[in-house]
Amino acid sequence: MRKRWIALVMAAVMSVPAGLLAAGTQNKITYDMNNSPINGTYKEPSKSGAKFLGWATTKEKADAGTVDFNATPEDKTNASLNGIGSGQTKTVYAVWQEGNAKYAVALYGIDQDTAKMDGGSYTHTMTFGPATGGNYVTSHKDAHIALSAETADDKCIHNHSWDEIIALCRTNPHVFDKCVESGCTKTVNLDINDTLKGGGWQDGYLSDETGDGPAMLYKELHDEFRVWQPGTESGSYQYGDNTGGYPASRIRAVLNGYDWTSDGSHGNTTDLTRANQKYVYTRSDESSNTGWNWRTADLTDISTVTSDNCLLSCFPENLQAAIVPKAVKSDTVYNDVSGNNVTTWDKLWLFSGKEMWVDSGSDNDAIRPNEGTIYDRITKQGITTSSHAGNKGYYFYTSGSTAYGNTDYWWLRSPNRYIRRYAYNVSISGDWIRDYTGGSGDAVAPGFVLGK
Ligand SMILES: [Zn+2]
Repeated sequence: MRKRWIALVMAAVMSVPAGLLAAGTQNKITYDMNNSPINGTYKEPSKSGAKFLGWATTKEKADAGTVDFNATPEDKTNASLNGIGSGQTKTVYAVWQEGNAKYAVALYGIDQDTAKMDGGSYTHTMTFGPATGGNYVTSHKDAHIALSAETADDKCIHNHSWDEIIALCRTNPHVFDKCVESGCTKTVNLDINDTLKGGGWQDGYLSDETGDGPAMLYKELHDEFRVWQPGTESGSYQYGDNTGGYPASRIRAVLNGYDWTSDGSHGNTTDLTRANQKYVYTRSDESSNTGWNWRTADLTDISTVTSDNCLLSCFPENLQAAIVPKAVKSDTVYNDVSGNNVTTWDKLWLFSGKEMWVDSGSDNDAIRPNEGTIYDRITKQGITTSSHAGNKGYYFYTSGSTAYGNTDYWWLRSPNRYIRRYAYNVSISGDWIRDYTGGSGDAVAPGFVLGK
């Protein structure tokens, strides 16, 4: 009987000692010639505050979050480990997910957004948004070029850690030009806090998440934090109220915090939300996704969502430090350029109709004249108001022990022009549709801009 030895050396232990196997500890598993394990033990590493995802064959891949294989004795036939001869060992690297949720993003444009640096000057920017158009829930979009084939001016975001992407953004972000049209994806690890989880959040929804994660946040946030703006009056306006537009919306406060300042450097609205939020359309049973009805008067006061516990605060610290405020253009008063429409400076924001379809020059109800400009990603991928599958967003859920990804609606920041109770979203097919602003059935898919 021929024996093979496999050593899984925990190369990541140097920087993550808590709870791990001791540095240099090896997993040795003996296999017979049919690749069936006959003895040995395999210990999955653990680390406080992080989830072990699997193994990578290089440290660079591990840093970028790329899993090559999940090593269990049964996975010995995996190509990454096959071919190891008798007595030989192979070093592999642990891949960790920090936090409790993932958000898959793609590159929308380079040097396209006007951004305001805190204490710095304008250099380069990279704009990210949801990794729409593919099922990025249980998979990911491969790098457009292999790490080994990268050159000084052609690199892929999927191959690099956020620290590396941030550093390159400051010097020459155009090394990532091809990622825009290739749709390459990247994971943002989130650490959703108890406030945003609310009462209905279930770890089980996320436990089997693989790939780069879902392209929008749905189960990750309690339903009351997915409403655009709850209703404030009975009657038809219990369905929501878009008065004041995106700058005054509850969902904007969820992204950046109710206390997001309105001094000249950050924003220029003080009326983030109205106080008398009463009506939200939600589920009575979060776990079974059933029982849709109107719930009244028991929403968490949005003023308790601050910069300390808003969605931005759930981002990794290195990203929080590198994200700069973008000029978010609202068109609350349709096509009014006399000063009624404000520009807010936000770090997380929702896309507009104008920014999501390449033929958005034809202004209409959902595509408002003053809500920004089209991104290169949309242009290069040819996403139009008649060919829009590239805008489909996916969310994640589990049923029993099986993980699923489903396409669903995701919010835009564009209010309906004529009827107060509506705002727009991207539909399950990738075009637009209106929904009650007080509805919680739409997902949140924020954009952000990296800068200096
Ligand atoms: Zn790429």
